[in-house]
Amino acid sequence: MTFDSFESRLDGALRRFTDTNLIGVLFTDLAGKIISADESFLGLLGYTSESLPATLSELTSAEHHRLDEEAFEKVMAFGVCAPFEKDLIRHDRTTVSVLFGAALHDEEIACFVIDLSHNKQTQEKLNHLAYHDALTDLPNQVLFKDRLKQAIAYSSRSDQMHAVLLLNLDRFKTINDSLGYTAGDRLLQSVAQRLTSCVRESDTVARFGSDEFAILLTQISRPQDAANAARAIKEVLDQAFIFDEQEVFMSTSIGISVYPHDDRDTAGLLKSASTALDRAKVAGGNNYQFYTAGGTTRALKQLVLESNLRGALERSEFVVHYQPQVALPDFHLVGMEALVRWRHPSLGMLPPSEFVPLAEDSGLIIALGDWVMRNACLQNKAWQDKGLAPMVLSVNFSARQFQQPAFISTVAEVLKETNLDPRWLELELTESSIMKEPEQAIEKLHELKLMGIRVAIDDFGTGYSSLNYLKRFPIDTLKIDKTFVADVCKDPHDTAIVRAIITLGHALDLTVIAEGVETHEQLQYLTSLGCDVVQGFLFSKSLSAPVFEELLCEQRRAAALSTSHDTAPLVGEIA
Ligand code: C2E
Ligand code: MG
Ligand code: MG
Repeated sequence: MTFDSFESRLDGALRRFTDTNLIGVLFTDLAGKIISADESFLGLLGYTSESLPATLSELTSAEHHRLDEEAFEKVMAFGVCAPFEKDLIRHDRTTVSVLFGAALHDEEIACFVIDLSHNKQTQEKLNHLAYHDALTDLPNQVLFKDRLKQAIAYSSRSDQMHAVLLLNLDRFKTINDSLGYTAGDRLLQSVAQRLTSCVRESDTVARFGSDEFAILLTQISRPQDAANAARAIKEVLDQAFIFDEQEVFMSTSIGISVYPHDDRDTAGLLKSASTALDRAKVAGGNNYQFYTAGGTTRALKQLVLESNLRGALERSEFVVHYQPQVALPDFHLVGMEALVRWRHPSLGMLPPSEFVPLAEDSGLIIALGDWVMRNACLQNKAWQDKGLAPMVLSVNFSARQFQQPAFISTVAEVLKETNLDPRWLELELTESSIMKEPEQAIEKLHELKLMGIRVAIDDFGTGYSSLNYLKRFPIDTLKIDKTFVADVCKDPHDTAIVRAIITLGHALDLTVIAEGVETHEQLQYLTSLGCDVVQGFLFSKSLSAPVFEELLCEQRRAAALSTSHDTAPLVGEIA
């Protein structure tokens, strides 16, 4: 390639860059007075050659004048300056971010600009997404915390008060379930708009996720201002939301904490507001509560739950869910565990850990446990009567139930009443329930055995049972506690324990079930160790009766399809 031909190519290439508006070019004199600009430069800034200002500095944002001066100094000293980013002012007074470079050329300064605004816009969009909730476009938790932190930092100088309001929609899940997720999303967007409309511009409304919102009220003069804001918020949210010409009403619970009374840092204030929110929920929802120090909330919740518990059985607030149990290695559905839940009118669905200990203390566990057994047996029999494959139903029993003198007769009565064949019922007892009075327990277990009922030891490995007793317990199943399963692949001690339980169980001719199986690795390990049955979130969480019924129907269809191949039906997808 000759020098000449390269020059002409370069010339051509530069012309293409300027012609396609990728690069704009401007010539000034040595003092920065504009001599001429190309179409690309004029187009980028929205000027014509007539309307273009006289000097470069008129096109440059004031804060970038210093950059220009430095650049010109470099051009004078070295002939060029390294390109740098700056803002230019458009004809319509908006600014555009550009990459700017300059070089000395025949007693003039040639400047080039490259439009960076697209780059900037993408960057800004990404920045925005990192700090905002995608559904409502409200600030997210990160930005909220940042604003709270700033407010606190500012007030340590001026001694101002701020309030954090945590807001949760009551029974949002029901709305989501009945109207569908799209309507749920629209509802959240409307809530966001209404919230924003009723606070000052300087306040922050954020969405923390799901149906939880937070509001930061800065510089209030007394806590009462926060109460007034909470009331105003409740008022706007109390008005009907309209979906497909249908009116939907929402109620909300709000927890309030105030800086500096309740706490002096971000985490503390949010925690206090959350505790207050709990109180609002416990008090039945649809109200607001201030944080009250002294950790009384937990005790209060216990108190409320305790007083609600007795009537809950009569009010039919309990429901039984069923968790599938599947046999290895082919994932054949072989059983279900009945797990009770409390559908609390204001606190939502409560897991057993929140109320079974209370029921045990108050003795209600006996009535509740009987109800669960009766309900689950009825359900199991109903499924069999529908022609669905019969399978074992495991029911949990607490020590107090098992120790009742009338225990055996109650079980017998329930079986008789529900007409369920005893071989489909398995009682789950913990080691500690049995070991309280082992000799009596052995007697009761024998009676159950004679009745044709199966018995499992639940959470095996967490209590203590002497191996000598274990040999004498007429049981059918050992359930390995989920704490061992959790680390079976990681902790060599847990691997050893699980392996030992499986070996022990098999030596005693027992079925071994692993509970709490959550990962493929755990499943693989348990399969290799020869575990018989598994139960856990990897396959399914516990399901409401109608959903479990769908599973049984699915299995029936799969069985019908595979009769010619004689293969076992599978449960769920575990790909
Ligand atoms: P459990 O009998 O050991 O029941 C298994 C628990 O493990 C259930 O919790 C179940 O939802 C949970 N689980 C199942 N798979 C997984 C998993 O993969 N990962 C994790 N992390 N957990 C899993 P749930 O339903 O909260 O029940 C807790 C306990 O409450 C039960 O433990 C049982 O001791 C008691 N319980 C439940 N229903 C009754 C009942 O009707 N009567 C009595 N007395 N106690 C009950
Ligand atoms: Mg259990
Ligand atoms: Mg268990």
